Amino acid sequence: MLRDTYIEVDLDRLANNVKSIRERVGNNVSICAVVKADAYGHGSIECAKTIMENGSDYLAVATLTEALELRQAYPDYRIFIMGYTSDENLKYVVRHDITQCIFTYEQALLLDKLGREYNKKPKVHIKYDTGFNRLGFRDCEDSIETIKDIVKLKNIECEGIFSHFALVDDDENKRQFVAFIEAIDKIEKNGFKFRYKHICDSIAAIDYPEFRLNMIRPGAILYGMKSFRKNDLDIKQVMKFKTKIAYIKPLYKGEGVSYSYKFKAQRDMILATIPAGYADGFPRNMFEVGEVTVRGRRAPVVGVICMDQCMIDVTDIKGVSVGDEVIIYGDAEENAVTFEEASVKGNTNKNELLCRITRRTPRLYIKNGKPVKVLNYLLPDLSKECDD
Ligand SMILES: *Cc1c(COP(=O)(O)O)cnc(C)c1O
Repeated sequence: MLRDTYIEVDLDRLANNVKSIRERVGNNVSICAVVKADAYGHGSIECAKTIMENGSDYLAVATLTEALELRQAYPDYRIFIMGYTSDENLKYVVRHDITQCIFTYEQALLLDKLGREYNKKPKVHIKYDTGFNRLGFRDCEDSIETIKDIVKLKNIECEGIFSHFALVDDDENKRQFVAFIEAIDKIEKNGFKFRYKHICDSIAAIDYPEFRLNMIRPGAILYGMKSFRKNDLDIKQVMKFKTKIAYIKPLYKGEGVSYSYKFKAQRDMILATIPAGYADGFPRNMFEVGEVTVRGRRAPVVGVICMDQCMIDVTDIKGVSVGDEVIIYGDAEENAVTFEEASVKGNTNKNELLCRITRRTPRLYIKNGKPVKVLNYLLPDLSKECDD
């Protein structure tokens, strides 16, 4: 790997998570798996394959570039861009058979025209805004009339219609859902039917089974992040973040550590330096709250986390030595900090912690319990299948 700091991605767990979701929703609900942001930091190319082979029907991303990255690797997977693509870039969507989110008549017309030009029938999912106020047709009669005109266009396929929950509370979720359904009913009155209707992200898909319709868009739960509250689901955290101790030395009472000496030793200590910092995805604001795991024991982060390194207190860890494995994020069973725990300590959510892990950190993929591939974004030519 050429680097002691790396991400372990357990493809067996990813496969099992997808199977758990499939089992939960049954065969009448399609799964549109969200692999945006490099599959939440896990590596979209590798993860997309596992996800599709274990029961997903569709892949969703946020941007055109993410869609094209996947398309280069997978000519046949169905790929949906949930975000906005500007007019001048819509031709790439059409050329590469990517399903696009739209929410204006003008873009529908442009895609219809591009469809004729490229002799294709671009697929679109219409975004209907039921309150989030991000993207989508505003919930009103005018919008419904416009959508009725869009579904009449001959050279696009209006394959789906979707909305997004703000996840405020039960009442507001219900209100958004009802608004969505009522709009669909009006649009479908004249005989036209959408193949896919969807509004549920991970949390909604698990906590509100009655809102699943015939498609869900899970992201976080694929990767084992449990943010739902009402129900449970058998999923496991796919990612671990690991490094190795680079240096060990004594720190004497009264000495400071790192920028501004924000940490000062209250006693004689043993300090270890690890080669992972905020440029790798270990958030700077973990200062004073961060802990890592060495030899099964917790070691507190001391001093401000630097861009590339940070220091940990290993005074009470017997036999600690250079080269020892350090778990930054891992499983609770190995006494490691989970993404759940880190999100509370870092005052953010699990998705953000996952996305913050940067491309400087190589990914090591595990399958059937064994390492199978290294993805080193900085040295793609060195990324290789592991020898058995
Ligand atoms: C990111 C995203 C999702 C997935 O969200 P999770 O909370 O990770 O499941 C679903 N739908 C849309 C529109 C998104 O942007």
